[in-house]
Amino acid sequence: MRVGIGYDVHRLVAGKPLILGGVTVPYHLGLDGHSDADVLAHAVMDALLGAAAAGDIGEHFPATDPRYRGISSLLLLRHVTDYLVDRGWSVGNVDAVIIAEAPKLARYRDEMRRNLAREMRVAADRVGVKATTTEGLGFAGRGEGIAAQAIAFVYTLEKHTPGYIYGRD
Ligand code: MG
Repeated sequence: MRVGIGYDVHRLVAGKPLILGGVTVPYHLGLDGHSDADVLAHAVMDALLGAAAAGDIGEHFPATDPRYRGISSLLLLRHVTDYLVDRGWSVGNVDAVIIAEAPKLARYRDEMRRNLAREMRVAADRVGVKATTTEGLGFAGRGEGIAAQAIAFVYTLEKHTPGYIYGRD
């Protein structure tokens, strides 16, 4: 069993959609980035990669690579999941928190959970998504950007790794 942590921040700008967990949230600002800047999906991917000690998304999907320009981060999450599964890891659960002063996100949470779960091929009850403000403090509080943190638990079963003794690693 392994756990990993992920953290990401993107700047809020005019003229971009606000995409969080694959949900386009109605707002007058959106997140800036090379991909669709889905800060929640990015934190989740880094948590998954971290759990497998497999680097980070910057390494797997370089921002300098034109193939990833504007790409859906849900598609990248699917790639990360495939990468882990190919190496014998299964996703146990993921929990995440979005740090944003605005907009209010509660009504979109379940759709975000379902989107992330679908790409990780797990049931939605294995994915937690929460949102918090910072009471007006810091860059998130000033509405300059949105941050996300995530933690992922992954596991491997004996059948995937010959010689593996559960609980000894
Ligand atoms: Mg990012």
